[in-house]
Amino acid sequence: MKTIGLIGGMSWESTREYYSLLNGEVNRALGKNHSASCLISSFDFQIIEDLQSAGAWDALETHILDAGRSLKQAGAQGLAICTNTMHKVADRVEDVVGVPLLHIVDAVGDEVGRHDETVVGLLGTRFTMEQTFYRDRLARRTGLDVVVPEPSEQDQIHRIIYEELVKGIVKEESLSVYLRILDAMVRRNRVSCVVLGCTEIGLLVKDYDRPLYDSTRIHAARIARFCLEQNGA
Ligand code: GLU
Repeated sequence: MKTIGLIGGMSWESTREYYSLLNGEVNRALGKNHSASCLISSFDFQIIEDLQSAGAWDALETHILDAGRSLKQAGAQGLAICTNTMHKVADRVEDVVGVPLLHIVDAVGDEVGRHDETVVGLLGTRFTMEQTFYRDRLARRTGLDVVVPEPSEQDQIHRIIYEELVKGIVKEESLSVYLRILDAMVRRNRVSCVVLGCTEIGLLVKDYDRPLYDSTRIHAARIARFCLEQNGA
């Protein structure tokens, strides 16, 4: 089995989902009492959130690179950043740290690409929805149009992530907000499927009348496949 280094704590609510999904997948594959060989570097999320709001992406990249180096030094043979947003600073990780990065957008894009989708609706933090680092990579990987909610809707989605979901708060009224926004986006753009491009949204939205591609589940499954590779492979 290979050892994965998880860069987490963004938020810890979703990192524990990763931990549980990853170990579950590895156990299902190997049986007995097997579980994943993994190392976790978990940030104090307030530090990350403050830097994000300040637009201090260089400092955020430094944090991610430092975490990656420590994990490699501790024995990680591959890395996964357990959040969509922080993939904004993922481009140099593999080169600088010197181990493969299991990129969340590639994992999600490959899963969407396995189905007969036409237009992808993307939900995530405002950074993920409004900037190009995620949308463009997903569009390239799938060859499909990727659309996002209107700016005022993005604000509501973003607020609920940072004020509720990263604290594990799941409210019926917030689910209604998300579903209203999804309905509007589907109507406007003939969306065939929805990518939950924030690792906490799956805590809130579990069902919809278009296929949902949950980045946390898909990424965790990709990480599990990496762990299950033979050493030397
Ligand atoms: N976990 C979230 C994501 O997948 C948001 C928290 C963060 O900014 O990292 O984008």
